[in-house]
Amino acid sequence: MILIKSPSQIEKMRAAGRVLALLLDELEAMIAPGISTHELDVFADSFIRKHGGRAAFKGYTVPGLPPFPAAICTSVNDGIVHGIPSRKTILAEGDIIGVDVGIELDGLYSDTARTYKVGQVSEAASKLLDVTDQALYLGINAARAGNRVGDISHAIESFVRASGYYCADDLTGHGVGLALHEDPMVPNVGMPGRGPRLKEGMTIAIEPMVNIGTNRVIEKGWEFFTADQSLSAHFEHSILITANEAEILSCAGGI
Ligand code: MG
Repeated sequence: MILIKSPSQIEKMRAAGRVLALLLDELEAMIAPGISTHELDVFADSFIRKHGGRAAFKGYTVPGLPPFPAAICTSVNDGIVHGIPSRKTILAEGDIIGVDVGIELDGLYSDTARTYKVGQVSEAASKLLDVTDQALYLGINAARAGNRVGDISHAIESFVRASGYYCADDLTGHGVGLALHEDPMVPNVGMPGRGPRLKEGMTIAIEPMVNIGTNRVIEKGWEFFTADQSLSAHFEHSILITANEAEILSCAGGI
C-alpha cells in the first residue's frame, strides 16, 4: 500500500531531510585523502544524534545478514551501495565515495545519498558522477502526480544508457516516510506508463546507481560491487509528489 502523508508528516520529513542535507555538506568538507570511512561514520552518527535524530541504517535488518553496523553506507570506487565503514578503508587521491544515510526524526524518515570526489579524480569518474546526478534530477522531474513509477524509471534508464553507462541490476528506490522503506519500489529501469500511479502526498526516494562498465553486481554480505570492478556512483533524494514539480525533502532549505 502506498501511503499519502499528511501536511504535518510532510513537515517532519522536511525537518529530517534538512538534517541529512546539512550532514552531507559537512562530510563534503571532511572527505579528503587519508581519512577513513570509519571516521566519517563516527561524525555522521554523532551529528544525527545532536540534531535529535536516530541513524536509521544502524541496526537495520534484512533476512540472512547481521544487523547493519553503521550510521552511513560508504561505497568506494567499484562499491555500488551498502558499503560498511571501516578503520581499514582509508580514502586516497582519485577515489570516489558514495555516502548513503537515513534518519528517523520525530517518527518520520528521510534517506539521501551523494557521491564525492576524493581530491582530483579522473575525467571518467567525474563524468560518471555528473551523469548519475543528472539522472537523479531527470527522475525527479518525471515524478509528478498523474505519472506512473515507470515514467521515473524510464527517465533514469534512458539517460544512463544514452550516456553509455548501466543501471545496477535489481537495486531500486522506494517509498519513504513512516518507515525507511515503504511501497512502492522505484526501479531505475522500466517502461513509461507502467507501474503504480503517483499521487500528491506520496513520498519516495529516487536513487540511481550507475556503473561505467556493466549492469551486473556482485554481493558480498551487505555490500554490492560492480561485477567488472568498474566505477559506480549513487545519488539519492527523498521527494514529495505534488501536482507540479516534486519537492525535494532532503535538502538544506536555505538554512
Ligand atoms: Mg534509499
